[in-house]
Amino acid sequence: MLILIPQDAATTFRASGAWGRLSLRISHPDDLAVVGGISEGGGSIISVDPPPPAPRLLAGCDSRPTGYWYQANSELHALWYLLRARRGTSMKLDAFKDAVPSGFKTPGDGGYVAITHAPGVKDAFPESGLPDLVAWHVTRAGFQPIEASAEPETTGIRQLGGHWPVKELQNTRIMLVGAGSIGSATAHALAGYGVGHLTLVDPDRLDWHNLVRHTSARRHIGRHKVTALAEELAALRPDTTVSALALDVIEHADHIRALLADTHLVVCTADGVAPRRVTGHLARRAGLTAVLACVLQDGALGEILRLRPWPQHGCLTCRRRTLAEAGGLDPELALDAGYGTGTRHRPMTAVGSDLHLVAQLAAKTAVATVLQRAGHPDQRLPGEHALLGLRRQPDWAPPFDLGHTAELRWLPATPPRSGCPTCEAP
Ligand SMILES: [Zn+2]
Repeated sequence: MLILIPQDAATTFRASGAWGRLSLRISHPDDLAVVGGISEGGGSIISVDPPPPAPRLLAGCDSRPTGYWYQANSELHALWYLLRARRGTSMKLDAFKDAVPSGFKTPGDGGYVAITHAPGVKDAFPESGLPDLVAWHVTRAGFQPIEASAEPETTGIRQLGGHWPVKELQNTRIMLVGAGSIGSATAHALAGYGVGHLTLVDPDRLDWHNLVRHTSARRHIGRHKVTALAEELAALRPDTTVSALALDVIEHADHIRALLADTHLVVCTADGVAPRRVTGHLARRAGLTAVLACVLQDGALGEILRLRPWPQHGCLTCRRRTLAEAGGLDPELALDAGYGTGTRHRPMTAVGSDLHLVAQLAAKTAVATVLQRAGHPDQRLPGEHALLGLRRQPDWAPPFDLGHTAELRWLPATPPRSGCPTCEAP
């Protein structure tokens, strides 16, 4: 049995006196219970269910008077920890009674569930991480620990404060162009890093054939991908606010350009050469870094390009032309075919998890760029152009000739080409 102690219940235990009665909502098939009511001493049991519209755990199960709660000494909680590790071990009832200063109730035939609150446990056992609220099964024969979990005061990204720059990232606004296979996973990864504001731009709707690679579930079929994604993230990563724009970056370039004034960085996961070029162009004109992510060669290579609006950093078109002159072919032309449309000549198509791997690297690149700029030198990346081997491609022209799966190659930026309409000042 697992007993969940939601925050309202935990707060009530911590604010109450020495003992009281306890109601639980119990689901026997799930072997799960949630604290539903608490009394102070012999008084009446008061509900501690969170008020609607908060989601109610086990709302369908009646709240039944099931046992007692007690204030206890810290040693009892250390004992809870030890007994839990030795499954099936029980202790004589007297030891429990001695650990509880007042209100102890002798168990009847079936015994009862008890929750104990040890207010001094953090002082008595600093660094131990022992919980101040634990649960027990108390019978005439003795007592045994029950798994219990109290909702922490902080959940979500703020839990990582102290070892991750939560505040900087919560204040960061990233625009993500493309909410398809790579884009959906990139959005999840950016929210996972704690990016506070995401603007999702994609005109497409979720279709049957997307399900094999997208993060969204079948129930979203027919809806705009950005809407489905915004809902997913609201449920999973409530610390990230999401603006969902079902817009095309080329068709609605003026609208997108206006939004860039309030954006710190742009990530583009759109497939197709034109949307990538337009996104890169708009970002550069707005003085923003663009991170472009895609797969090449029918999903054999993942590529992340970081395009910074710096004088010695060329745009996507300049980059491709320089590589082509150095003997590398332009693998980007294949992008317009779209993955999943492989022909007899290129039968392999990208697998969802490979695309998500590229997405994770794109999000890491974006977040590292933001953090390095905010004064975190430990977030410096090895280069501006990453190639990730998803299937080995030793025969492909350099720099795309990755000899191993999972090989990661970082390349420096190349300068703008003369006459480039994106790189040269308007
Ligand atoms: Zn250029």
